[in-house]
Amino acid sequence: GRASSESGVSSRVRVAVRLRPRNADELAADADFGDSVELQPELKRLKLRKNNWESETYEFDEVLTEFSSQKRVYEVVAKPVVETLSGNCKRVWFVTCWCWNGISAYPLSVLEGYNGTVMAYGQTGTGKTFTLGRLGEEDTAARGIMVRAMEDILADITPETDTVSLSYLQLYMEMIQDLLDPVNDNIAIVEDPRTGDVSLPGATVVEIRDQKSFVDILRVGEAHRVAANTKLNTESSRSHALLMVNVRRTVKGRHEMDASISGENGHSSSIVGSLRPPIVRKSKLVVVDLAGSERIDKSGSEGHTLEEAKSINLSLSALGKCINALAENSPHVPVRDSKLTRLLKDSFGGTARTSLVVTIGPSPRHRGETTSTIMFGQRAM
Ligand code: ADP
Ligand code: MG
Repeated sequence: GRASSESGVSSRVRVAVRLRPRNADELAADADFGDSVELQPELKRLKLRKNNWESETYEFDEVLTEFSSQKRVYEVVAKPVVETLSGNCKRVWFVTCWCWNGISAYPLSVLEGYNGTVMAYGQTGTGKTFTLGRLGEEDTAARGIMVRAMEDILADITPETDTVSLSYLQLYMEMIQDLLDPVNDNIAIVEDPRTGDVSLPGATVVEIRDQKSFVDILRVGEAHRVAANTKLNTESSRSHALLMVNVRRTVKGRHEMDASISGENGHSSSIVGSLRPPIVRKSKLVVVDLAGSERIDKSGSEGHTLEEAKSINLSLSALGKCINALAENSPHVPVRDSKLTRLLKDSFGGTARTSLVVTIGPSPRHRGETTSTIMFGQRAM
């Protein structure tokens, strides 16, 4: 997003675009045609070809090509939302935060006590799940954002005083289903009237102590997702999957503002810190693998019901409105319109960070869907 002038930090939404490499079918069928897009990653630009003569150019916070590694994608899309300044990042931060706006998002990270959201939006088959959910058990380089984020969280916390727990949910037709206990398929959203915090009292919460148990949990959730969708006779691409990670840290003698205090005066934080009693900081990271954004054939001839189509359109357009409001720093974010946005309400709060990756494919045959995905990303900036 654009830099917001008064706070000096980048706007509340970061938007990256990621292009999937051509798959075997596209290599065969589109061999004689160019891709529908041309990327200029150094300029953070994407050119969308309208026809042989004309193209439209769009700018993003980050442009990820078909060659971008999963590691790089994690670093630009999710790390600024997750990572803390303490430890080895701090030194680098002093130097870079004034130069590169993106880095200044670090003090507002999940590990520093702020809520954050990472979402993937795009047509089915363009790489949302590849980007977010790959476990990479046989090939660590393939690991997606969820696994890498948990690795960074577990590496940073102090096991004696901090806890990490999670819930894993599916949202289908405005119903929230527990992916860790799938018989539980109508979970209610409860909002604390005082703090406005959102909670899901009916959802399974699992404490995570190590990376292996986390990967096991993700695998169980994914298997449940496949089974539940088979039973409902629908596809995973018709539902949203949400991983909610709660981080609870006991911070000894430090104040919430330490990160910014130390940014201006490197010595003040330890002096201020030693005078304060321990405090508990709670924050939440939500990773959202959104339903496919493609326009659904409303006749139902492709096996989709009208109700499914309506429900997906409703939640994605409600999400779009909320993200636009965030991007514009509007004080009013219209979260009421769908369960998806109600679930994300406290992730849309004042200091929370949102990072959106829009995924596209190269084929000129999907130019229409590619265009609408790019426009969704543009409106979020
Ligand atoms: P979506 O979740 O958006 O429907 P997937 O993540 O399932 O899409 O990706 C569709 C297919 O494309 C999968 O076979 C996946 O492995 C492959 N794919 C997606 N993105 C990439 C990428 N960046 N590099 C290589 N293969 C990819
Ligand atoms: Mg998927």
